[in-house]
Amino acid sequence: MGTEVLCRVLDHTDLLADRIPAPLIAPSPSSVWATQLSAPPPDLPGDLSQLLDCLDSARDASAENTSPTNFAYIPSGGLFASAVAEFYARAVNRHGGVAAAAPGFAAAERSVLSWMAHQVCGLPPGTAGTLTTGASAATFAATVAARDARAGTDLGRATVYLSAHTHYSAAKAARLAGIRESNIRVVPTDADLRMDAVAAADLIDADSKAGLKPFLLVATAGTADTGAVDPLAGLAAMAHARGLWLHVDAAYGGFFRLTDRGRQRLDGLHLADSVTLDLHKSLFLPFGTGALVVRNGRDLAGAHCGTGHYLRDVTQAHSAPDPASLGIELSREARGLRVWLPLHLYGTHAFATTLEEKLDLAAQAFTTLRANPHLETPWSPPLSTVAFRLPATAPTPRAQRAADTRTAALHREIEATGRIRLSSTIIDERLTLRMCILSPRTRARHVREALRVIADAAKRFGDPPRRDVPLPLVEAE
Ligand SMILES: *Cc1c(COP(=O)(O)O)cnc(C)c1O
Repeated sequence: MGTEVLCRVLDHTDLLADRIPAPLIAPSPSSVWATQLSAPPPDLPGDLSQLLDCLDSARDASAENTSPTNFAYIPSGGLFASAVAEFYARAVNRHGGVAAAAPGFAAAERSVLSWMAHQVCGLPPGTAGTLTTGASAATFAATVAARDARAGTDLGRATVYLSAHTHYSAAKAARLAGIRESNIRVVPTDADLRMDAVAAADLIDADSKAGLKPFLLVATAGTADTGAVDPLAGLAAMAHARGLWLHVDAAYGGFFRLTDRGRQRLDGLHLADSVTLDLHKSLFLPFGTGALVVRNGRDLAGAHCGTGHYLRDVTQAHSAPDPASLGIELSREARGLRVWLPLHLYGTHAFATTLEEKLDLAAQAFTTLRANPHLETPWSPPLSTVAFRLPATAPTPRAQRAADTRTAALHREIEATGRIRLSSTIIDERLTLRMCILSPRTRARHVREALRVIADAAKRFGDPPRRDVPLPLVEAE
């Protein structure tokens, strides 16, 4: 079984460098494989090759996330070494929730969490962390820890602060943690889409005066829209002076701290009380791995501890903290292996170099798009996401709506080529396209191809070149 699966997977991944992100086959609900995939399990055994044929067909009729020309949303790299580690972990099937059940695997998990807390985020000793299935789950665990540590006993008064560019998972986590929807405050942002620390302070002070209990400020290090990084150091000083917990959502931006530029741009991350990282984003892992690290490990344990008599044999046997007492789950896989193996196999420099390359490619893409007279590029990329749109001919709502309509047509035209995939968003009420360069397979030639596709489409949908845009002397690479 293993050999057959491995051969099929290798046939697929060997061709990934040239795979286009659009589905190879349009899914048809009446196809044999689609019918078989939704049928109930049979009474009698099936045939492995035939079942795997079904899966291969479904795979080919789906979006190719790991294609090097996929720039939509935030691409997940799908690092193969991580999949191999995961296969190993699942096949040997050790319990990953209790350290005594598999002490070595638990140590590997603690070591990658400690690497993230100290080397990546710069937190001091005394941290704890948990590997989750993604950033949403990590931010929820952080919100619960912050609530228990800082919100007091009257949850009706507990108040949370975020911005319009904060990922929706932060507000969702607050709601799930029992915070009233009306106590989730949206702090204004500046022209660079960064949270305004003075406005945040004013809101917090007004709420405190009104008898509310501000307890959590969620800052973002790399927004999903444009990669904007909130002013972390200023927000930390402001929040800590008022007794608030500072959570930083570094789901997208966090691992850029492995690079010099990223360390500068994410300055102040070490002041956070907790940080969310998404390993299936900027550490290139396949979907399904996020992380939370918490400055004061006792806060995470305090919110997640618990035990039962049926666990007396394992919990009395050792002193290392159990993953189950630092997160929501008890029984689960040894989750650290899929992180530990790639990091030890390639070494951290390989990750740093690959992220450097993405920053370079994004800077080049920005230069080229900015020089295109048909396009508007309102923000230089803080990380590896470049946003652009067709400009409005006048600053009126009517002209802006017309520009949005043409930007939507531009997007459809680009999608129709099947060669590259972008995604759209709304920023400052304007439809905006975004190109997120994050796949480890994305090289200079893929970005050049994307820029060619965009330039061709922009020629068709853009207005004639505006005279006020200086043309570059030399076309950027
Ligand atoms: C992707 C993302 C999230 C949500 O992460 P999931 O892993 O999809 O749950 C949260 N915040 C930011 C900034 C993100 O980019």
